[in-house]
Amino acid sequence: MLVVAKFGGSSVANTSQFQKVKAIVEAKENRKVIIVSALGKKEKNDSKITDLLYLLHAHLCYSVPYDNVFSMIKNRFCNIKEELQLKIDLESEFNQLAKELNKELSMEYLASRGEYITAKMVAEYLGYTFVDAKDLICFDYSGLVNDKETEKAINEAYQKYHKIVIPGFYGAYPNGTIKTFSRGGSDITGAIVAKALGATVYENWTDVSGILMADPKVIDNPKRINQITYNELRELSYMGASVLHEETVFPVQEGNIPINILNTNEPENPGTIITENCDDNSQIITGIAGKKHFTSFTVTKTHNADKLSVLRAVLNVFDKYKVNVEHIPTSIDSFSVVVANSDVEKCIYDLVSEINKNEEVKNIIVDNDISLIAVVGRNMVTKPGISGKVFGIIGNENINIKMIAQGSQELTIIVGVCNKDFEKTIKAVYDNLVN
Ligand code: ASP
Repeated sequence: MLVVAKFGGSSVANTSQFQKVKAIVEAKENRKVIIVSALGKKEKNDSKITDLLYLLHAHLCYSVPYDNVFSMIKNRFCNIKEELQLKIDLESEFNQLAKELNKELSMEYLASRGEYITAKMVAEYLGYTFVDAKDLICFDYSGLVNDKETEKAINEAYQKYHKIVIPGFYGAYPNGTIKTFSRGGSDITGAIVAKALGATVYENWTDVSGILMADPKVIDNPKRINQITYNELRELSYMGASVLHEETVFPVQEGNIPINILNTNEPENPGTIITENCDDNSQIITGIAGKKHFTSFTVTKTHNADKLSVLRAVLNVFDKYKVNVEHIPTSIDSFSVVVANSDVEKCIYDLVSEINKNEEVKNIIVDNDISLIAVVGRNMVTKPGISGKVFGIIGNENINIKMIAQGSQELTIIVGVCNKDFEKTIKAVYDNLVN
């Protein structure tokens, strides 16, 4: 049995968080492979080390004096070292980094130093071996992870050292140049490592006790989701629930490794388990998420035109302007293309005029006041009438539904409402469908 445990930035934000991590790791003999983020925020007005490193890079680029930012970064690490009486030679680490600072220094390399030093400190504190992610996470030159080489390197390191700490967030190209994932990418490192080692479980330790059924900014004290499938999680994350980095699920899903979202500040809470299939049927729906600010372009074709060819031509225009299409509800003579406002902000006039040039398009109506709300639940498939219930609940609140879509796996019902009705819709669905 092997547990791969990833601790996010808030879990290693200061000395007391380091102590909690140690207690958690020591509580289970099988937590042998640890991935860490860089020191994050514990208090609201703390800064994340990664943000400070990006800021340091901006100072370098614009030739602005950077001593203050550099000292801020260094001090955060030094304080923890002193308080925990670690031996790590931070003076040399930071002297070395100071020597490397210049305008040409790669931003990705500099950003990765947060995870690099944090992992060294955590390794010493736990009595584990530090293994640099640059030797484990192998990118090819197109920026994709080379699975074979990565798996081989991770397995070799584990066989050799047995208890290891790996910095998250980065790896290297074949020539050794550092490459980072996108922000929050330590989750992906953890997933890749868990898959490579065939872990029994991938524990993702953060500062919330699992995934909530709705956004706590909209619903007071929403219930925790006990179990959720990988696919449901992807739907919820896509629609705005921010829990894990979006790309985390794929590696673990391929290896069928459960993810357990846990809270470093409340380790006895079972959190949320994410697996391929779940047997918990206690709730009809698994969760609700949503995003504001979408635009729909409703295109009506001329009487004789072939709808498919008009649709194809219109989608080509969206493609030309690199606009990501979210939904395409259709009816007999018309269809709507729903996109995020931010995607069409700059090109909306050109886009509409180009669509209008098509002689088979009778007219196009633009509505830029749409919120999308997704009601997600694997248990909806087996229970007829759930979508009817959802629409009924929204209707009873006098909320006008502008658009409806249902995913083909019947996992998600998506409704479009006015932005002003966003919170009201989520509240109504939550209050009526969650036990
Ligand atoms: N430290 C990086 C970030 O802040 C990566 C991570 O925490 O996962 O985005």
